[in-house]
Amino acid sequence: MSMHTHETRSTCCYCGVGCGVIIEHDRDRITGVRGDPEHPANFGRLCTKGSTLHLSARQETRALHPELRATRELPRTRVSWDTALEHAADRFAAIIREHGPDAVAFYISGQLLTEDYYVFNKLAKGLIGTNNVDTNSRLCMSSAVTAYKQTLGADAPPCSYEDIDHTDCLLIAGGNPAYAHPIVYRRIEDARKANPAMKMIVVDPRRTDTAADADLHLPLLPGTDIWLYSAMLHVLLWEGLADERFISAHTEGFPELRRHVRDITPAIASEICGLRSEDIVTAARWFGESKAAMSMWCQGLNQSHHGTHNGTALIALHLATGQIGRPGAGPFSLTGQPNAMGGREVGGMATLLSAHRDLASPADRDEVARFWGVPDVPAKPGLTAVELFDAVRDGRVKAVWIACTNPAHSMPDQARIVEALQAAEFVVVQDASRSTESAAFADLLLPATTWGEKDGTVTNSERRITHVQPALPAPGEARADWLIVRDFAHLLGPRLGKDSATLFPYASAAEVFAEHAESTRGRDLDISGLSHALLDRIGPQQWPFPDGARSGTPRLYTERHFATPNGRARFVVPTTATTAEKIDARYPLHLNTGRLRDHWHCMSRTGQVARLYSHVDEARVELHADDLARRGLADGDLVRVKSRRGQIVLRAHASEAQRPGSAFVAMHWGRNMLSSSGANALTAGRVDPHSKQPELKHAAIQVSRADLP
Ligand code: SF4
Repeated sequence: MSMHTHETRSTCCYCGVGCGVIIEHDRDRITGVRGDPEHPANFGRLCTKGSTLHLSARQETRALHPELRATRELPRTRVSWDTALEHAADRFAAIIREHGPDAVAFYISGQLLTEDYYVFNKLAKGLIGTNNVDTNSRLCMSSAVTAYKQTLGADAPPCSYEDIDHTDCLLIAGGNPAYAHPIVYRRIEDARKANPAMKMIVVDPRRTDTAADADLHLPLLPGTDIWLYSAMLHVLLWEGLADERFISAHTEGFPELRRHVRDITPAIASEICGLRSEDIVTAARWFGESKAAMSMWCQGLNQSHHGTHNGTALIALHLATGQIGRPGAGPFSLTGQPNAMGGREVGGMATLLSAHRDLASPADRDEVARFWGVPDVPAKPGLTAVELFDAVRDGRVKAVWIACTNPAHSMPDQARIVEALQAAEFVVVQDASRSTESAAFADLLLPATTWGEKDGTVTNSERRITHVQPALPAPGEARADWLIVRDFAHLLGPRLGKDSATLFPYASAAEVFAEHAESTRGRDLDISGLSHALLDRIGPQQWPFPDGARSGTPRLYTERHFATPNGRARFVVPTTATTAEKIDARYPLHLNTGRLRDHWHCMSRTGQVARLYSHVDEARVELHADDLARRGLADGDLVRVKSRRGQIVLRAHASEAQRPGSAFVAMHWGRNMLSSSGANALTAGRVDPHSKQPELKHAAIQVSRADLP
């Protein structure tokens, strides 16, 4: 048992479940962590990652003071904060004056707190006048965002974790919560124990631990999700399981979708999806006959070049059966990162504006400009993640500011990102770690505070906002992310002839939150009734929480009035595309990427914890034993995995979880790998046309012995 003198409430900084934690600490050291029994996301439980958080901070890798280099050939040297921020302001101002505001860009992170996000967004869109502020949430949730907007009218997941306790049919699509959202999965296990009649259907090309537990596993071929959901809708209609009254009273666009799925029979879909048609029929019947059907989805649907339509096709099953807005019913996207949702709330993406306002709407832009007290918000859409680094690579964007994320590891087609960071005139990296792949390219490194040191809010997958409190003072010269941005804005404004002191008046994170909350007044996510102080008093709350509310809102659309202009939910006729890149004789295997149980993102934290290697201890490619044998390979051999973009060397692992013809590489491994780069050396940057989310989940690859060229 750890000895400690203080306890501070916070949340786990890993996944979007957003578990509450109690940090046990002394004045200058975190000694332990335990689940917060009062937090409604986890009621005291933590998974392997959360329960080892206190072991994950290593001082040797911390960025503790600003570092600057004069030229690319020289190493960075320590400088003062004043020198660092003056230099950054000079460089940004010079580039903006010469090339215009769109020559700079910010690439931020779902790991940031909402207050950090808010200030970054205002810096780009309000002060500088560019919408070039995007985030790694683009790689994660943007297809869910556009799917919700296209169907329900707003980016608002309608469900709560407590719906798991009320559902009798849970369809998990493109997700492995047993690994990636473990505490939600514990709740699913409890619900199944309490209600043995509850059905669990899992749609996943791999037989993951979640899929192995399912009543029905649909191991579809990569990229064929829409065909499956279209065929399920076909069955629902054919068997009279659709709710025609709900459809006519609360939706629009159904006749077009009905026509579209008329010929997509289970027999046809089974060919395309590689599934048995009777399993498709069973899945549709279970969904349509249940009293309350719920779906959960994650990156398997989102990280596709038709991720938006994967989502709308799944949501259509709910709308066709009226399975929404009731306890235990509804489409529920799980967020990957701890605060992807908070970033969406403040509009911290190239295509969004504050409080779910739309960049494409002149009225919304005017509203935001008036609220901020700036002449206008630019109409031109900003560059989204893949576009942004392409623009850096070809010189349209000259300065890029990266905060709390590691694109040289996590973006698809790594080689292009490396070229971009090499080509940039000025790269700022603001991070708690100085050892990420991206930090190596920083001309200016700004040390930021991290988990256990920060004050602000996060919103988890079920729209629940928690105020996280700092347990420790900032180490070295590290500063809070919002504070770094505020101070930079104060220096940049005068160089551009603008009054940034008035625009960024904040003395605390609570003041930033207050402005954000006010900006949501009257919107679907109205949190004008919340403040840091109130959250401290009454605990974490789900939005909306308007002024005067006494508690949050666990479930949306209970009145069947959707967030579209006419209140009707919309059906969307989906594309019939499958994967962006096809397999062929040269690249005959489907690569799937995903997560391990005990690691998080690029392992800058979990990689520091010895016990988190006990589950999987090295980078490996998982293949079906038949695929290994066909290549003269055996379990444990070193193999070269190659796509049209790059190659990596790693150990082969025979796995019954893989369909023949498919391979799996976890996305975490980077420089730890034998070949010094990770799965994203192989992936491609093809994006969904609506969400601009890249297809990180699939690439065509070949596998051969490592000693062959
Ligand atoms: Fe952290 Fe997610 Fe595990 Fe909860 S489930 S402890 S938020 S990693």
